[in-house]
Amino acid sequence: MNDKRMLIILSGPSGCGKGTMLAEVVKRTACQVSVSATTRQPRGGEIDGVNYHFFTREHFEQCIAEDAMFEYAPYCDNYYGTLRSELEAIWAQGKHVVLEIEVQGALKVMAEHPEAITIFTMPPTIAELRRRLEKRGTEEPEVIEKRIARAIEEIPFADRYQYIVWNDKLEDAVDDFCAIVQAEENRTKYSKERIGALITSC
Ligand code: 5GP
Repeated sequence: MNDKRMLIILSGPSGCGKGTMLAEVVKRTACQVSVSATTRQPRGGEIDGVNYHFFTREHFEQCIAEDAMFEYAPYCDNYYGTLRSELEAIWAQGKHVVLEIEVQGALKVMAEHPEAITIFTMPPTIAELRRRLEKRGTEEPEVIEKRIARAIEEIPFADRYQYIVWNDKLEDAVDDFCAIVQAEENRTKYSKERIGALITSC
């Protein structure tokens, strides 16, 4: 069997619905989302080790120094990063890793892993993005403004990604994401051995 375990990067503005979308995608595909580390404070209902590994700044910087981070980036006054150990654990289960990460970290991973599948999710409009962030009610108005400003900076980088998923409607966005995973799993490179065996059996 050819190894089909993929590395998938998903970026998109905060409040775009990436988390909600991925919660559905993991039910329908062989994808698993890597649990990132962050120095930001947990939001109400977030659990350490489930939503994020909540680290102090000192612990995060120690992980950087020990090369335990696959990638990391600062975002709105905090660090966010992917632990190498997370990726290994997911691949050990034979699943595809999904990194739900912002653009700076994504560009670094793309440069080092050109085989990665890259997806950018878009909000229908900036007004709708603002409405979704306000409705979520987890950030202070000043943090919402920083996140909108960051969204406006990040959106022009969408053309560095292979696929765009418009999140106008959650169900359609989930269908689109799953269709990408399925198409990628059907790439010829994963069938080479089987085709070879078929030919020799003729
Ligand atoms: P939030 O605070 O809303 O959970 O995440 C803020 C931003 O950080 C989002 O754009 C999210 O994709 C990004 N992010 C989450 N985890 C990581 C990570 O491990 N690495 C990087 N580079 N960005 C991350």
